[in-house]
Amino acid sequence: MSMRLILLGPPGAGKGTQSDVLSRRYKIPHISTGDILRKAVIKEVPLGVKAKSYMDKGELVPDEIVTEVIVDALKSDDAKKGFILDGFPRTLNQAIALDESLSKISSGIDLIIYFETSPEVAIERLSGRRVCSKCGFNYHVKNIPPKQEGICDRCGSRLIQRPDDKEETVRNRLKVYQTQTKPLINYYLRKGNLKKVSGDMDVDELFKVIFKIFEDEHLA
Ligand code: AMP
Repeated sequence: MSMRLILLGPPGAGKGTQSDVLSRRYKIPHISTGDILRKAVIKEVPLGVKAKSYMDKGELVPDEIVTEVIVDALKSDDAKKGFILDGFPRTLNQAIALDESLSKISSGIDLIIYFETSPEVAIERLSGRRVCSKCGFNYHVKNIPPKQEGICDRCGSRLIQRPDDKEETVRNRLKVYQTQTKPLINYYLRKGNLKKVSGDMDVDELFKVIFKIFEDEHLA
């Protein structure tokens, strides 16, 4: 049984954290365009150089650039039996490009999980978020604290605040979500198998809700 998933929702909805849980549990890759772009920025490769100025402002990186990144990632052997797309698609053009790309390999998306999240929760999560400067693993100062303050449990590296998690940039990211990404909900309600969950729940509670959806949909 394949499990090709899209996690859709605003920044701070918990998509990344839930993707990590699902990826470990079902042994399918977590493909996050944000993570791929951040790594490219750190390495200063051409993709990162092109993306950085948009990311710093909380704007979307142009569709052609991110779509190419995803089409490449989906070609990997890892993604054959399923994948979790986190942070892609974020515009209608990206969603259409994804459909076209998957239809070429006679494939499609099995389930779109929409994380409906209140702005207060999203802002609280983003402002408390800390990420590992080396492996990128996510923490939260209150909700998911590391064992030792400021240090990654997994690799021992220093935790930092993402530059785009600063208050002003967060506000812009939420605005960009409202105007450019939210219309995808209607697109997938018409075209795909979209299920709504509450992104305000904590990680374990939400996993249980998602697991129930998987069972109902015969995905797990
Ligand atoms: P994220 O980690 O998903 O919050 O993404 C961080 C930033 O990377 C976003 O604010 C955008 O600048 C960029 N980005 C990530 N995914 C996309 C996408 N699908 N389309 C355009 N820009 C993206």
